[in-house]
Amino acid sequence: MPEDGTAELKKSARILVPFVAVIALTAFPLGSMAWPIGFLLWIALVFGMLLLLVRWHAKNTLYHCPNCGNDFEISPVADLISPHGTANGGWTYLRCPRCQQMVRASEKTKAKT
Ligand SMILES: [Zn+2]
Repeated sequence: MPEDGTAELKKSARILVPFVAVIALTAFPLGSMAWPIGFLLWIALVFGMLLLLVRWHAKNTLYHCPNCGNDFEISPVADLISPHGTANGGWTYLRCPRCQQMVRASEKTKAKT
C-alpha cells in the first residue's frame, strides 16, 4: 500500500510539475502586457490547462462500484465536483450507473492498450 501511494504521487508530480511551471513562466510575459489583457489571457490559459488535466484524469480513470462490482467511467464535470479522498488508493463518491446506489467508488487507472 505505501508503494502504491508513492507511485501515485510520482505520477501526479509528473503532470503537476510541468503544469505549475507553465503557469509560473507564462505569468511574467503575460503580466507585462497591457492590463487587463495579459491577466485575462493568463486566466484563460490556467483554466484551459485545468480543463485538460481534469479531462485527462476522467479519461484515464475507471471507477469500481463496491456494491455490484461494475466498472464505469464518469464525465470530467462529475470528476471535478464529486467528493473524493485518497484512502485505499483513492475513492470518489458517485452514483453507480448500474445499481443506482451512491457509493464510494474506488479509482483505478485504465490499462494501457
Ligand atoms: Zn453498482
